[in-house]
Amino acid sequence: MLEVVRIPVLNDNYVWLLHEGASGETVAVDPALADPVLEAAAARGWTISQIWNTHWHGDHVGGNAAIKAATGCLITGPAAEAGKIGTLDRGVQEGDSVRIGSHEAAVLEVPAHTAGHIAYHLAPDHLLFVGDTLFAMGCGRLFEGTPAQMFANMQRFAALPDDTIVFCAHEYTETNGRFALMVEPDNAALRERMAEVHAARGRGEPTVPTTIGLERATNIFMRSRDVAELAERRAAKDAA
Ligand code: ZN
Ligand code: FE
Repeated sequence: MLEVVRIPVLNDNYVWLLHEGASGETVAVDPALADPVLEAAAARGWTISQIWNTHWHGDHVGGNAAIKAATGCLITGPAAEAGKIGTLDRGVQEGDSVRIGSHEAAVLEVPAHTAGHIAYHLAPDHLLFVGDTLFAMGCGRLFEGTPAQMFANMQRFAALPDDTIVFCAHEYTETNGRFALMVEPDNAALRERMAEVHAARGRGEPTVPTTIGLERATNIFMRSRDVAELAERRAAKDAA
């Protein structure tokens, strides 16, 4: 059985702790910082045995060195970004898989936010760690890639089962949703979701994780019909 714990850090980052009881293994996904992540693990009697990074940005790898110093954990991340993640022990790429206990995660290459960005998909467990590629009602900025790449990523995610739980690395939901409503003002699912999001944020609650089904209904980037439409929406969002 897998447990997932959300650790809010910095302004709006989420670090995810994934724990497997039988093996006692614990994975920290994209640790922006070390201390809150080590504390969250210790509070549960867990020791971090691995780190899985999705991309090289500081708010995803910043805790690598100190967590490794404290635990001796194995650090896995995109082989394509090994030059930018000095703490990497193991570079992985499309077709590779990584394990936590007996549970396997497929490595998916989803470039666009960064050139080597990867996601971790535990298909039998219906869990997907997407870093900064897919957000609740949004997608990552195209810092090192193209609209065509992001369109392909969105199509790929959209093809996964609706009940796949999506763990993204930021709480961007409310601003994403506001923009989405300008693009699709008549989308009933989107309007309903935004009412729930406003209420949750008003109570100071997180809105992540999300699901593939929810994103298929409300994410204007996943719902883009072609590359040009995604490109136009992404550019408009960047300028908003
Ligand atoms: Zn990033
Ligand atoms: Fe980030």
